[in-house]
Amino acid sequence: MMTREYDFAVIGGGVIGGLIARELSRFEVTTVILERSMDVSMGASKANSGIVHAGFDAERGTLKARMNVRGSELMETVASELGVGYRRNGSVVTAFSDKEREHLLRLAERGARNGVKDISVIDGDRLREFEPNLSPEIKYALYAPTGAIISPYGLCIAAVGNAMDNGCDLMRGFEVTAVERSGEWFTVTSSTGEAIRCRAVINAAGINSDIVASMASPARFRILPRKGEYLLCDKELGGMVGCTVFGCPTEKGKGVLVTPTVDGNLLLGPTAEDVQDRDDVATCADGLSYVERSALRQLPRLPRGKVITSFAGLRAKADGGDFIIEWSERGFLNVAGIDSPGLSSAPAIAETVVDMIGNSGFRLDRKRNFDPFRKPLDWFSRLSDEEKSEVIRERPEYGHIVCRCEKISEGEIRDAIRRDPRPHDTDGIKRRTRSGMGRCQGGFCLPRVAEILSEETGIPFLEITKASGGSYINKSRTKGD
Ligand SMILES: Cc1cc2nc3c(=O)[nH]c(=O)nc-3n(C[C@H](O)[C@H](O)[C@H](O)COP(=O)(O)OP(=O)(O)OC[C@H]3O[C@@H](n4cnc5c(N)ncnc54)[C@H](O)[C@@H]3O)c2cc1C
Repeated sequence: MMTREYDFAVIGGGVIGGLIARELSRFEVTTVILERSMDVSMGASKANSGIVHAGFDAERGTLKARMNVRGSELMETVASELGVGYRRNGSVVTAFSDKEREHLLRLAERGARNGVKDISVIDGDRLREFEPNLSPEIKYALYAPTGAIISPYGLCIAAVGNAMDNGCDLMRGFEVTAVERSGEWFTVTSSTGEAIRCRAVINAAGINSDIVASMASPARFRILPRKGEYLLCDKELGGMVGCTVFGCPTEKGKGVLVTPTVDGNLLLGPTAEDVQDRDDVATCADGLSYVERSALRQLPRLPRGKVITSFAGLRAKADGGDFIIEWSERGFLNVAGIDSPGLSSAPAIAETVVDMIGNSGFRLDRKRNFDPFRKPLDWFSRLSDEEKSEVIRERPEYGHIVCRCEKISEGEIRDAIRRDPRPHDTDGIKRRTRSGMGRCQGGFCLPRVAEILSEETGIPFLEITKASGGSYINKSRTKGD
């Protein structure tokens, strides 16, 4: 079989690889995304806080500071073009003592130097005028109105989908194990022996970006995985805070936050624990109880028993601390060490990468028919009741509710399966439609979702999985066909 050839191979289908591929798809070049999992957004881009940080955390002069502030400026447009849930809800960092206030003042100064607009330190009473549920013990807060929230996996899936709509290829289950140069070409090979050839490699492999970097030349950095655990609460609590509420940062990071999500839930977390295992996304009782205690300090009236799920993600922290966006040799670009605020920075990182490619001698001619827009994943739920009735008249499957908690119809599920990047398992459908993301976490709808996935893809019903690999939902039939 002929080895496929591309101008660019982007290794990693996270939000960074996805947005880089989308930027490249504006030009007359061929691009492939190589992703080891069976879906995109399976690394840090799936499990994070979903905050578009205002940009006061990173030290001035770092790539993190520059990319964060620029990313936060670009994000609203990117989210609107891609139809991704986004809300500029503002953020606050709280201080319980005068000592912590000193820290807020330093953050405010740093934010102003980084170019963050309208940042100020306010007192506790002023804070509680717009956040009445926050603790009466909070004495001061740093208020940044430009902070925002976004659906992180929504952004990643839409970025990859839009890149694919504009001609980019996606190869899943392609775990890169070797990158070899011969003249002007690279051969990139997977663990199953599959190979592609390309003129340039963009390494956006997240937690494994040091390993991938070392396939081309000795890596000058190491990735140190840092785990963050979360509790996700029922939508009933989604209105307890309007802003994203951070505790005062520690040397390990921004501390535990309490935030509404764009879908209306309340999210608590994350912890910050250095781990060795690059696949360790287990949660534990200690981590989760620390999250709960920290959240209760901010929100003393937070009701117990409203947690609907817990999860963890791994930050890909580089040993140097800052993001790494650099050519390791001609044609091999590392986009590595993209821990927080990587989601916020993603549009700016993609913009920077494409500028670097253009400046390094690769020819980039603009495509005349590039389409930046993508229909929102949740277009149906955004309609009025009259408009919904009209759609249901044409397509009755939109009138069959499958997920009762989130009110997701069969029509939405079928459409999500038919659209790039196509889901291969029921969790993939969950991330695209929210079916199974509500209070019952799929207890009611999972069998029907599995059935629809089987009908649409031709995968036999008994082979449908929850999250690929061996995560089969059914063991065997209990009744005849
Ligand atoms: C707990 C936590 C909280 C965070 N909160 C925020 C926040 O609120 N705001 C913010 O701005 N940022 C936040 N971040 C950071 C943000 O999530 C990341 O910066 C961003 O998701 C990084 O995207 P990525 O594409 O580089 O990595 P990933 O999403 O991890 O993508 C890398 C991809 O590469 C694939 N891959 C790995 N090895 C190979 C290989 N050999 N071959 C092929 N594919 C491979 C992986 O499967 C994965 O899909 C947080 C991160 C964590 C973990």
